[in-house]
Amino acid sequence: MDKILRINMNAPGGPGVTTEALGTYAGHAGRAMTSAVVAREVPPTCHPLGADNKLVIAPGLLSGSAAAISGRLSVGCKSPLTGGIKEANSGGQAAQVMGRLGYAAIILEGRPAGDSLYKVIINSAGVTVEPADDLKGLGNYATVDKLGAQYGKKVACITIGQAGEMKMSAASIAVTDMEQRPNRHAGRGGVGAVMGAKGIKAIILDDAGMKMRPPADPERFKAANKAFVEGLRRHPVTGEGLPAFGTNVLTNVVNEAGAYPTRNFQEGQFEGAAKISGEAQAALENERGGEGSATHGCHRGCVIRCSGTFYDKNGNYLTKQPEYETVWAHGGNCGIDDLDVIAQLDRMDDDFGLDTIEMGATIGVAMQAGLAQFGDGQAAIRLTQEVGQGTPLGRILGNGAAVTGQVYAVEKVPVVKRQAMPAYDPRAVQGIGVTYATSTMGADHTAGYAVTANLLGVGGSVDALKPEGQVELSRNLQIATAAIDATGMCLFIAFAILDQPDTFNALVDLISAFTGQPMTADDVTALGKSILKNEREFNRAAGFSAKDDRLPDYFKNDPLTPHKVTFAVTDEELDTVFNW
Ligand code: SF4
Repeated sequence: MDKILRINMNAPGGPGVTTEALGTYAGHAGRAMTSAVVAREVPPTCHPLGADNKLVIAPGLLSGSAAAISGRLSVGCKSPLTGGIKEANSGGQAAQVMGRLGYAAIILEGRPAGDSLYKVIINSAGVTVEPADDLKGLGNYATVDKLGAQYGKKVACITIGQAGEMKMSAASIAVTDMEQRPNRHAGRGGVGAVMGAKGIKAIILDDAGMKMRPPADPERFKAANKAFVEGLRRHPVTGEGLPAFGTNVLTNVVNEAGAYPTRNFQEGQFEGAAKISGEAQAALENERGGEGSATHGCHRGCVIRCSGTFYDKNGNYLTKQPEYETVWAHGGNCGIDDLDVIAQLDRMDDDFGLDTIEMGATIGVAMQAGLAQFGDGQAAIRLTQEVGQGTPLGRILGNGAAVTGQVYAVEKVPVVKRQAMPAYDPRAVQGIGVTYATSTMGADHTAGYAVTANLLGVGGSVDALKPEGQVELSRNLQIATAAIDATGMCLFIAFAILDQPDTFNALVDLISAFTGQPMTADDVTALGKSILKNEREFNRAAGFSAKDDRLPDYFKNDPLTPHKVTFAVTDEELDTVFNW
């Protein structure tokens, strides 16, 4: 990955393509690359949908190599949802293919005159940008069907659906999986709206004829990779829980802990949780045939394989196995206990190109406002349809929970920096509350997944209901996560590397053997800190201050059942998270 591709959408005479050497971005990859480019090149106060914003797509440091589970893709920009810096992370095939094609980043710049759409085709022969108005108004599935028919079934596609074309703040960017289905998403922060604003409907990546990226030290790389994979298989979460039940194995765990946000974060336990749990999902999938609960990877080279396939009542493919966050967002958070309804909503989100967390939280707020009853699955489907159709109500909902709450005068809206909270109530998982409050991304569980030590006993144990120890826990996880997001590794490796020092050492050795540069644990920490520093500085220049690193007041004032607990980490403590 020795080059950067820039596509300037307002170049004279149509989109301009340039390829350049890495220059000062050498050594950057994944989130380190996206955040560095945004921090250096995007004016912090620009309009997120204007010509000055840039959309940066970057594979991880190890993507395109033989390193296990290294195919995560980072997408960065100034977020239309939060107004701050954004890195949204996706699985799917694109990172591996981009890596083999040799691109460390694709940067979409400028804004086209008029409302024409374009597609970018990248293969071993080079790059072309072509009109794509025939794809206008199509969902991700129909878009990818057309692209697959034209460019073959082996290409990886990065696309937007109707929500991205309409530049909604909840719009995601879809990435095709191994079966060329657009069901992996860079979901958060409205990155799809920025791609839509650039007038790019699709990027087609074809690595035919390209080789896997070679490591600097093949023998050491092979040995480190073997030890790393063995460590992932040995750990009970990455070796057993995730492969058997997917991420939805968490529903029963979080619900039993009283931390499962229910009916727009009004309660901490959902009476219908067992019906939508990972165990129930696996049983349903087994009953419907196909591959049942057999594990499935979102990209080639994943050895955890936490995913699966959801078939409808007639045994036809409907969507990928909905993940825990999606099942919660469209399930318990809306009082819905029907897996078929949840899977249908997941499919609609993937097709329209919407962040499932933001949409579930938004529908929860809409239900709180009285637009529908909690538990009414058909109403949730109708509301989501409005978003895809771009009706006036749909445009409100498609701009997320904060906008919807504002329009309908809902007082209690679960957002930080205008981004919806995911599936853990911060009152009963106080460490994740610190992450929600202080992350550069807005409320984001993946930015510092304190659920590990708070609820799962991974990487130590910190009482989830008390404020003590949460700042340090979140700080360390935010630093480690930023570094992992630069490698292309899936975040789920964290379970094994937090608990098993030999697996962490194998990862460090793997990176070092690949790059040929010495690497230590301290270097990993330094990398994470430098990424966060870039992001914090961008946000500060965009107008963020300590007052934005807070949860909404009601989390401090309203006790959550069943523990009758409030968020008790003080503002002063929150302000120390980035003191290192
Ligand atoms: S563990 Fe799951 S999310 Fe992570 S790379 Fe594998 S399939 Fe994708």
